[in-house]
Order: sequence, then structure tokens, then C-alpha cells
Amino acid sequence: MTEFILSEEELLLKNTVRELADQELSPRAAGYDETGEFPWENVRQIGDLGLFGLTIDEEYGGSGGTSRQLAIVVEEIARGCAATSVIYVAHLSLCSQFINMFGTEGQKNQFLPPLASGQELGAFALTEPGSGSDSGAMRTTATRSNGQYLLSGSKLYITNGTEASTFVVLASHDLSLRTRGVDAFIVERDLPGFEVNPQHGKMGMRASTTSELVFDGCPVPAENRLGDEGDGFRETMQVLNASRIGIAAQAVGIAQAAYESAVSYAKQREAFGQPIVEFQGTQWKIADMATRIDAARLLVHRAASLLDAGRPFVTEASMAKLFASRVAVETADQAVQIHGGAGYFAPTPAERYFRDAKVTEIYEGSSEVQRLIIARNLLQTR
Ligand SMILES: Cc1cc2nc3c(=O)[nH]c(=O)nc-3n(C[C@H](O)[C@H](O)[C@H](O)COP(=O)(O)OP(=O)(O)OC[C@H]3O[C@@H](n4cnc5c(N)ncnc54)[C@H](O)[C@@H]3O)c2cc1C
Repeated sequence: MTEFILSEEELLLKNTVRELADQELSPRAAGYDETGEFPWENVRQIGDLGLFGLTIDEEYGGSGGTSRQLAIVVEEIARGCAATSVIYVAHLSLCSQFINMFGTEGQKNQFLPPLASGQELGAFALTEPGSGSDSGAMRTTATRSNGQYLLSGSKLYITNGTEASTFVVLASHDLSLRTRGVDAFIVERDLPGFEVNPQHGKMGMRASTTSELVFDGCPVPAENRLGDEGDGFRETMQVLNASRIGIAAQAVGIAQAAYESAVSYAKQREAFGQPIVEFQGTQWKIADMATRIDAARLLVHRAASLLDAGRPFVTEASMAKLFASRVAVETADQAVQIHGGAGYFAPTPAERYFRDAKVTEIYEGSSEVQRLIIARNLLQTR
């Protein structure tokens, strides 16, 4: 257990969110997963706790919280309902945080308060049909015209796409410049030439929505560009480097939930005349799960602590995501195994944890991409 590394304030935060997760998020998680209904009740309750503005500066309606606090909150939300945690991360760590880090005073005053209160949801749109890991190969264009940019192209797999009213969208004003031609824009939902098409059939995280965004000459005011022209890609990498810690924390939360369900089942399920927890084979599984979850959590807290201290953290953030996401997948796998046949069926939560865990190895930089980042930084290669 890693509680000893938390300050009193952090422990209080953890316990507050844990209570919400235990009493509200967790009991509703299976139902939302089954129907695919967007968990508005969860969103409202997280908003009531003031968590949507956790890391946003106080002058724009946030609490000015730390990356460690964010990791604590994401882990606890994910432990209760993983789908709700991806809604939270896309909203706060990607969309709102992008504006918080790179917005002008005017942009921050206009867009952050409703996002920080949870009154409005945000989304972040980088991935395209033809560019994911190689995000610099994006084809969405932003053509300058009379004080505005006309956006054309499409984005794929955008979390919160269906519910968000504020989007941070990446597009290029000059494709020949590759990453140096990329700009970030704040795009409001009701603009003409902007369409959102929900995508269906996700393996897990089913209560979160994932959508295609289509832009057809969508006029975005020039004052909605975030940062200088050509800075969008660099800004995106900075946002993703930090946000990755949140996905690692999400993976820890899913793993913790899977572990707890496995232990609880192992204590009550009997085989050969005794609870299966009495078998050494089960105990070794449980010991390995707990050890790996703790190791993952420590990596998350190390990365977050470095970020909060203003020290280099990118390698450590990638290590945390790489390791924690594998731990989530393996722990959920073992949890299904411990449940036996019951683990293969809903409403036993193990199969949901198994489906939810997998995406942590894919989004916000796949595990292969994390390895590239870690090796490049260790070996000082390009
Ligand atoms: C549920 C969900 C929610 C998402 N939400 C968002 C969102 O809100 N906003 C957003 O912009 N995107 C979002 N994404 C997109 C996500 O970030 C991408 O799917 C991810 O970056 C991988 O890109 P890709 O799917 O194009 O895979 P690809 O880049 O095509 O990769 C395919 C495979 O090739 C591997 N690969 C690629 N390059 C290399 C390499 N150099 N070396 C070794 N292996 C390599 C990858 O690791 C992967 O295994 C979401 C995705 C999902 C599934």
C-alpha cells in the first residue's frame, strides 16, 4: 500500500473520491456498460465535488491542483467506473489543460470557467483515419481566410465528441511543413461545417462516447488559435506528456478494482472442500497482482511528483504508462481466471475490467510508442 507517501491533504482527497466511487460510480458501472448510456449522473457528481477544474488555475474557476492530486482522483474514479475516468481525462487533462497551458487571457476567461465547473464538457481531437501514432501525418487543414481559419478534414476516435461543447482541434495551415505546420484551435460545437458522428462497437469503456468529427470548411475565428501559428504540435506533445500520467493512473485504478474483485471472489468460492483462496496457486496470483499494482502506482506517483517539481518527467511518465497499462491488462486477465467460468460473464465485473483495461495500452501513445520514447530518451537518439 502506498498511502504512506501521500500527504494528509492528498489522503483526504483520495478518501473523498473513493467514497464517491464506492457508493455511486461502482454500483452503476455495470449498468452503464451494458446500455452504453452516457453516465451523466457520474459527471454531475464529479462536478459537484469540484473535480472538473482540479488542475485548472484558480482565476479561471479551477483549484490549481497538482499532477499528484490528478493521479489520485483518476485512479479512484477508474476504480469505480473506468469509462467515467476516460471522460474525465479527455475533458480535463487534454482539452481544458491545453487551454490552461497555452490559452491567452481572453481564451482562458471565455472557455475555462464552464469547463472547470463541469457545466460544459470538453474534447481533444488529434487522431485521424490516416494518422494515430504518427500524428504529424495529419491531413486536416486550416486555411486562412478573412480573419478566420476554414477547417477541413476528419478526426477519429474522439472521446466526448458527442457531448462536448468545446473542442481543441489540431489542423495544419501548411501540410508541407509537417509538424511545424500544425496549429491548435478551440472549436465550438455549433459552428457550421462541423459534424459529429458517434462510433459504435467499442470493446470496453462503453459508457464513454467515441466519435468521428467531420469538418467541411468550418470557420474558426483566428482568435481561437492556441499559441503562435506552427506551435500546435509542440504544444500537443507537452499536453500529452503530462496527460499520459493520468492514463497510467487510470490503468492502476482498473487493476485495483480487478484485484479487489478477485480477492473477494476467491474468499467465497469453494472447490475441493475449501475456499479457492486457500490454494497456494491462488495466493501466488494474488501476491503477484498486489505487488505489480503497487509498483505501477509508485511509478505513477514518481512521474507526477517530478512534473509537480518542475523536473524532467517525460521518460518516467512513459515508463509509468507502459508498465501500469500492462499491469491493468494482466491483473484483469488473472481476475477473470480466478473467477473461472463466472469471470467470462457479466454481471461479474472481471470481464468488464478485462475489456476496459486493454485500451490503456493503445490510446495516448501505444505501448510501442512509449517504448520508443523511453529508449530515445535513455539512448539520446532521435
Ligand atoms: C477508446 C478510444 C478513445 C480515444 N480517444 C481519443 C481522443 O479523445 N482524442 C484523440 O485524438 N485520439 C483518441 N484516440 C485515438 C488513440 O490515441 C489512437 O488510437 C492511438 O494513438 C493509436 O493510433 P492508431 O489507432 O492510428 O494506431 P496506429 O498508429 O495505426 O498503430 C497501429 C499499431 O502499430 C504500432 N506502431 C505504430 N507506430 C509504430 C512504431 N514506430 N514502432 C512500433 N510500432 C508502431 C502501434 O503501437 C499499434 O500497435 C482514442 C482511441 C480509442 C481506442
